[in-house]
Amino acid sequence: MSTTTRPPAPDATDEQAFLDRLREFVGLEATPTRYAQDAVNQAMIRHFVEAMDDENPVYVDERAARDTGRAGVVAPPPMLSTWLMVGYKAHRAAAAGTTSDTPMARLLAILTGAGFVGVVATNDEHEYLRELHLGDEIKMTTVIEDVSPRKTTGLGTGHFITTLRVYTDQDDEVVARQRFRILRFDPSRAKPATPAGADPALRHRPFVLRDNAFWFEAAAQRRLVIQACTDCGTLRHPPGPACPSCHSYAWHEVEASGRGTVHSYVVSHHPKAAGYDYPLTVLLVDLEEGTRLVADFAGDAAEVEIGMPVQVDWLDYGEHLTLPRFRAAPCASEPAEEEKD
Ligand code: ZN
Repeated sequence: MSTTTRPPAPDATDEQAFLDRLREFVGLEATPTRYAQDAVNQAMIRHFVEAMDDENPVYVDERAARDTGRAGVVAPPPMLSTWLMVGYKAHRAAAAGTTSDTPMARLLAILTGAGFVGVVATNDEHEYLRELHLGDEIKMTTVIEDVSPRKTTGLGTGHFITTLRVYTDQDDEVVARQRFRILRFDPSRAKPATPAGADPALRHRPFVLRDNAFWFEAAAQRRLVIQACTDCGTLRHPPGPACPSCHSYAWHEVEASGRGTVHSYVVSHHPKAAGYDYPLTVLLVDLEEGTRLVADFAGDAAEVEIGMPVQVDWLDYGEHLTLPRFRAAPCASEPAEEEKD
């Protein structure tokens, strides 16, 4: 019998009680009805279609719109939410922490308090009932439609919150509905996509083409090579058919020393792809020959620093594929132990 004390696992009853508390918000208006600051107008439509590169004349040309049987110019349906945007004043208020006390704010505060601090939008479904015409005055009501039971996703454990936004016009006619869903999650409780010690054979395979096959063939023999222009000597990576300096198609490969320095790096936590261990540290390495290369770091993310010397290492990705990765190299300028005293 174990005598170790551990924090109790979250109890199913607690989880149900928490969900019941969240579900008290279902059916409530999330935020007060929002009214468009401006009626549907040609100027805003023109800016929108120009930004979207949408050439459809029914949005800007009265005659073209009438030729299609419409009463006049209409707004592009995806512009729906732009009519209800709150403007910079509201963003300043949010930044100053003076947002209003609404059911949605209270619901989110409960989630935040329980550690569900991550947020990601997962669904946005629109239903358009009629086109909007110049002069329409739009308003939007938002109702909290559903709070899901606790779910564990690749991002973390959390609850999906669904809101239903109903858009109506000046005559209270419903013109559109929008169902918007977010996941509020606890990032510290993510479901691992792959166990530690993931099998590299499951990793993404590179695109091997005629222009870069030589590089992968060399890597399969654990040789790091660089493509060199036969006419002007310029080195290039990634491989390509022509020299970027003199445009010559003549090339040969040169052996790289495998030594370099970290130019930059990223530590990837999500999304987790099969075959990789996370956090995954990916380096941008300046090889001492002068070209730059992207490769995994074979070590702990905490060890990596920009400018750090690295040395090539190799990883077999199952059969027929071996790719370079890099590990920290002993620093050449480090004084020997006896010189330190
Ligand atoms: Zn050249």
